[in-house]
Order: sequence, then structure tokens, then C-alpha cells
Amino acid sequence: MRIFAATGPNAPLEEQDVESPTPTGRQVLLRVTHSGVCHTDTHSHAGGYDLGGGSWLSIADRGLQYPAVFGHEIVGEVIAVGPDAQGVSPGDSRIVFPWIGCGECSRCLSGATNLCATSRAIGVFTWGGFATEVLVPDSDILVDHEDLDPSWAATLACSGLTSYASVNRVLPLTDDETVAIIGTGGVGLAAIALLSRMTGARIVAVDVSDANLENASRLGADVTVNSRTLGDTGLAEHLGGPVQAVVDFVNTGDTFAFAMAAIAKGGTIVPVGLFGGSTSISTALLPLKAVTIASNYVGSLSELKELVRMAQTQDLPRVPITEKPLSLQSTVDSLAALNSGTATGRTVLTA
Ligand SMILES: [Zn+2]
Ligand SMILES: [Zn+2]
Repeated sequence: MRIFAATGPNAPLEEQDVESPTPTGRQVLLRVTHSGVCHTDTHSHAGGYDLGGGSWLSIADRGLQYPAVFGHEIVGEVIAVGPDAQGVSPGDSRIVFPWIGCGECSRCLSGATNLCATSRAIGVFTWGGFATEVLVPDSDILVDHEDLDPSWAATLACSGLTSYASVNRVLPLTDDETVAIIGTGGVGLAAIALLSRMTGARIVAVDVSDANLENASRLGADVTVNSRTLGDTGLAEHLGGPVQAVVDFVNTGDTFAFAMAAIAKGGTIVPVGLFGGSTSISTALLPLKAVTIASNYVGSLSELKELVRMAQTQDLPRVPITEKPLSLQSTVDSLAALNSGTATGRTVLTA
């Protein structure tokens, strides 16, 4: 098999040929057919997250080993199964649920493997989809996408799942309430598409890119706001009133402060983005506004299954997807586009 691997933090990706593993136990080996490129991959490639105030959260310190193969939005074709694997046979096409944990702690046993303190996430801590093949540790984490377009199905594993689990945290909303989505890249756009099907509340999309905001309108945003044009005017002032919910897919210090200024009494802010930074907040405002900060990190296997079912049974608007060949050059170019903010919608590498 061929991997497009990072040999260290920020090291240029390299193409390497390595021996294909033979699955044992419940393991399954898949040929990667579709592999989405996500902002998390750029953080993994950088080696960590900016926590603000000069602090850095190193992924290597949490168990990332090099060479590392990123890519966690994977659809693949089963090519070999371990003797104890169940429910899949060679030739089957499956979504890989990447957010796995230790399998033994209370979080894992309750199904919230995405919140395990000892993450074994595929494409972060173990080799992922920027490769021709991927070995998954358990057949149970493969999800049948049936007749869904496989490129779109791949994006459900992270951007779709993150959107679904994040908007679930602000629902239900009534039809006269407003939810603001900050950041309308791939994940934010998917959130708008889902919200337009899950609530009658007014959906406000906020971004700095007019191209992204056009996509947001097409996917169901009722109002779009280019925050660069707001100047000193806050969102609440611009809209004529505060908003009941904010889902922040950027989540810098600036966007969090922007959300706090816009939120209504009793409202909910869901920080999701990993752009990082910090801000000072007036702590008295938290109880005075009775605001709920309900952060979200990806989602669980059962949420992914719910989302796939929803995608199969409803006509969900889709995030624009650009397909590129699964190659070293496309992987490098796609990560660079995300880093420079020039990517719109989602890029999926296809074999
Ligand atoms: Zn665990
Ligand atoms: Zn992701």
C-alpha cells in the first residue's frame, strides 16, 4: 500500500510504499476509495492546536507517532477481513467511523468514544485515509451508506457528524427564534443544510467570505452576514435583536466574543471550531444572561448512524464537494487550500 505520510510536525508529506497489513481478530482492511480533507488534518499536520496566550496543545504529546497518515473522512471498499469480523465481506463499501477510544473507559462503554481521554482516532492517532488502504480495528465501526454518493458519505464521518451533533445541542428552537452559524466552510454549510430540515427557526450565516455565504444561502440560510462589513456594529444590533443560539465553527477569541455579545438571555453557544485563541469574558454576564456554553467535539457512532439514516430518507441539501485524485500532490494542495482559507465546500480525494 502507498501512504502520504508526515514524518514530523509540519514536515512536507511524503509518498511511501509500505506492506499491506493482514487483518486479525475483528480488524478489516479497506481500499480507500474516497477520503475527505478536513481542517483537523491541517492541525494534525501542524502538530497541535493554538490554545491562545502563547500556549500550544501538542498532538504528539497525546500519542501521535510519526510517520503519521492523516485523513479521517473515509469511504472504502472492504478487501480483507479478520476471522472475527462481522457484517462485512470483501467488495462491500463502508464509511469508517473514525472517533474511537480505548474501548474500556466509562465514556467508551456508554458509546461516547469521541469523548474518550485516550483517543485512538483513525487518521489522527492511527493511520488514516491519505493512503491507498486503511486498516480499521473493528468491523463494528463500519457504517453501510447503501446508495448514498460515496464522496458525500465520506464527509458525513467528520464534517457531517460534527454538524449534526453540534446543531442537536441547540435544538429544539421555535419558529420565531434565531440561530446564528459562524463560519460557513464545509462543516458550517452542512450545519445549515441540516438546520434547514430540522427547525423552522431563522438561520443566520456569518462569514468573511461572500463565496461561502452564497453557498450558505443556497443550502438554507435565511440571512447572510459578512462580518467584515459590520464594523463596530454587533450582530444583535444588525439583526434588530439578540439570537437564541450560536454555533461557532470558527471559535477564535474574536468569534467567541462576537457570539457572547449577540446571545439572548437563556441562549446557547456551541463552540465547535478549533482555530484557537483566547478572549476575556465578563464572568458576571454568564449568570446574568443565563447562557449555556455547550461545546461539541465530533460525535458518536450512533449519531453517525442516525445521520446516515437521515441522509438516506430525506432530501438533504448537500455541501458542495470538489473531487480530486487521491495522490500526494492533491493531498498537499488540499491541505494548503484549507490553511490559506481559499477552500470552499469540501474536498474529497478519490481513488
Ligand atoms: Zn475510552
Ligand atoms: Zn474532520
